[in-house]
Amino acid sequence: MEVVKNIKNVVVLTKLHNTVFEKVDSLNPSKNIVALKKAANILKNNGLVAFPTETVYGLGANALKEDAVKKIYIAKGRPSDNPLIVHIADKNDIYPLVDSVPKNALILMDKFWPGALTIILKKSSIIPITTSGGLDTVAIRMPNNKIALSLIKECGFPLAAPSANTSTKPSPTLATHVYKDLNGKIDMIIDGGSCAFGIESTVVEVFYDNINILRPGSITKEMLETVITNVTIDKAITDTNLNLLPKSPGMKYKHYAPLGDVFIVDGEINNIVHYILKSLKNDKENNIKSIVIASSETINNYSSFNTLNIGSRQNLNLIAKNLFNTLRECDNLNIDKIYIESFLEQGVGLAVMNRLKKAASYKIINV
Ligand code: AMP
Ligand code: MG
Repeated sequence: MEVVKNIKNVVVLTKLHNTVFEKVDSLNPSKNIVALKKAANILKNNGLVAFPTETVYGLGANALKEDAVKKIYIAKGRPSDNPLIVHIADKNDIYPLVDSVPKNALILMDKFWPGALTIILKKSSIIPITTSGGLDTVAIRMPNNKIALSLIKECGFPLAAPSANTSTKPSPTLATHVYKDLNGKIDMIIDGGSCAFGIESTVVEVFYDNINILRPGSITKEMLETVITNVTIDKAITDTNLNLLPKSPGMKYKHYAPLGDVFIVDGEINNIVHYILKSLKNDKENNIKSIVIASSETINNYSSFNTLNIGSRQNLNLIAKNLFNTLRECDNLNIDKIYIESFLEQGVGLAVMNRLKKAASYKIINV
């Protein structure tokens, strides 16, 4: 890999290399042990391998090797102060990586690991500063995906793995999404089918008597409250004041954005449909290629325009699963303007709306 430009704190990669693409059985990865060993060998040699998790595809490197981790930032074009999540294959593997494991962390690990919950703790000295984006804390997760767990075990070291997309693009929920963004920039892509949740993990910081959600995900506040009494949501998530500095560095960057301009339309559902219909008609008259991302309940209203169905409003988990693929589909269709109906900010809806607001750069039309 060859690096040339360094714009602000983003390094840009120019020289391409050959990316190997291998399918691995998601239910029984040992059937494809040759491919897994090939991937582990690449990782042992400080290379990059994209692999499926239950949230989104991750771009893995040896979390303990600075030279390996640096390549992640370069391949993704990720700002160097945006820390990586470290993935482990066994709960006990957390101990060498952190200063100490407080009681609340143990409770969370017990209830939600393996699973879509990332825990932030004070890091130990074996975590390079590049992995933690310059912070003295580290984000750790044990994924609930057989391929991810087998790969980490095969390596024998933890894998730093942010989402395997180009920075600012929607996260990848299929191996083809990874291929589109990173082919020629990484060593290998493991295709393990579609990701079960399709939205990134919930990130929490853990304190003595409370936990604070830094990024909402498929493990909801309500689920966390079943085991921890005091669960707060960081102001940077609920407040749309963009000057508020997020404690989770990744949340300050432009994210999840397709090429077209995204507008969220919020309000009473009949008003939303009415506003979007009017806008689509107006765009058509002005030769603007626009589309609506609608729910199954409302999609028939837009039958004379471009539409993408994101799923039923009754099933927010399905909407989360379809979200990034639907945003990427807009790019495939070369859409200039994207209208999307808003969803209830409850349960997984909080994570869905968090990602949508970022995709829309906070352009929300209240009707
Ligand atoms: P990604 O890996 O692309 O899903 O992004 C990881 C997310 O976790 C980003 O929003 C990071 O800012 C956040 N994160 C990782 N490590 C830390 C940390 N030590 N403190 C706060 N947030 C973190
Ligand atoms: Mg990401």
